Amino acid sequence: MTTDCLFCKIVHREVPTEFLYEDNDFVVFKDIHPAAPVHLLVVPKKHIRSINDLHEEDETIVSGLFMLARDMAKDQGIHTSGYKLLFNVEKGGGQVIFHLHLHLIGGWKR
Ligand code: AMP
Ligand code: ZN
Repeated sequence: MTTDCLFCKIVHREVPTEFLYEDNDFVVFKDIHPAAPVHLLVVPKKHIRSINDLHEEDETIVSGLFMLARDMAKDQGIHTSGYKLLFNVEKGGGQVIFHLHLHLIGGWKR
């Protein structure tokens, strides 16, 4: 837990947020400023700043992020229509919350 991190606060329920999914290692919630009809954030509970800060010991977190994103895409009914998965990395990459998260974006009518 990093005390000045918004996503740590969300994970620890200090900032009330509806979880679409939660287990020991991850939470999933809706992005507050959705860029598409479906825009979820898949977030490890462990505080990791960005992709740059992953270590060997985080391998199961990385695989878990992708498997959970796959499951959430199916849950949201967008797995066959298609979706985007996105990591923003550091400021130049558009990252504004420095707690690792995977964007799951989809649900367009096209
Ligand atoms: P990034 O630019 O990859 O760091 O993405 C951070 C995302 O977090 C943005 O898309 C924000 O809209 C989203 N966000 C910020 N605050 C909240 C919040 N309280 N609940 C849900 N999503 C949030
Ligand atoms: Zn954090």
